[in-house]
Amino acid sequence: MGTKYRGRFAPSPTGFLHLGNIWVALISYCAARQAGGTWLLRMEDIDTQRCREEWIAAITEDLCELGLHPDEVTARQQERTDRYREIMTDWRTAGVLYPCSCNRARLQQIASAPHPGETVSSYDGHCRLHPPSVCTRPLSWRYAGEDGIVRYVEHGETEEQVRALQRYRDDIVVQRGDGMYNYQFAVAVDDADMGITEVVRGNDLAASTPLQVRFIRALGAAVPSYFHVPLLIDRKGQRLSKRQRGITWREYRAAGKSAEQLVGDVLFYAGVNPQRAPRTVADAVAIPLCEWQLNRPSVQVEDAI
Ligand SMILES: [Zn+2]
Repeated sequence: MGTKYRGRFAPSPTGFLHLGNIWVALISYCAARQAGGTWLLRMEDIDTQRCREEWIAAITEDLCELGLHPDEVTARQQERTDRYREIMTDWRTAGVLYPCSCNRARLQQIASAPHPGETVSSYDGHCRLHPPSVCTRPLSWRYAGEDGIVRYVEHGETEEQVRALQRYRDDIVVQRGDGMYNYQFAVAVDDADMGITEVVRGNDLAASTPLQVRFIRALGAAVPSYFHVPLLIDRKGQRLSKRQRGITWREYRAAGKSAEQLVGDVLFYAGVNPQRAPRTVADAVAIPLCEWQLNRPSVQVEDAI
């Protein structure tokens, strides 16, 4: 065995890098470095409506300024669409995809009784049971799953995670009628192809893990372990987002703060830098992650600079 650790940081380039992103980036970086492994950067720019070139350049530059240097060339989902198409073709040939002609109103109607925290899907299998015959608008493609369970390892848990997936309910759209690939699908393909051994990300994405694990298994790849870290929240309990002011690295920098002060702040919120002293990335790597207080649902940050 002895597979070498491969981790990744995978931001969506929809804004400047802020404290919430940097928190996840630094944890994933330290996890990779402490394991003597590789740290990769992937731009989740599949949503071309929301992602912009300028954000990709800015995130790359900002990570560099903070001292977080990826070990390999940055991956971009927009450059991987041939691969997604290839898998779509394989899966269609294998009969695990089916066309869906349900309109938005119908999907909203059946989604009105969600099961919070359980999964992110809620289809009723209509088009699997009644294949659309004539359709004037482009069809979306759904994954025809079966009832079953997926297993994966969650960081810090002694027991393996066992999650149920249901036929119909979890038949998620892999490709929309307008051609756009589903986020869960793209993430799973990317993690599989990049040989990721541990996924470090915010715990807001924990619920999507079973669906991604199913796709990774369907691709015949090794399932990574998952490390869902606490979300940073503001005083009102809202998750930090790009809409908030004063939390981006660029605003920090403009206010005369250094990268070491920002890293020091991240370590402060992780409970391993009580005096809030400036720290380097190397200092962060030197503190074993098991000492970081990451076993919490969220971490409240003080008001922005
Ligand atoms: Zn349908």
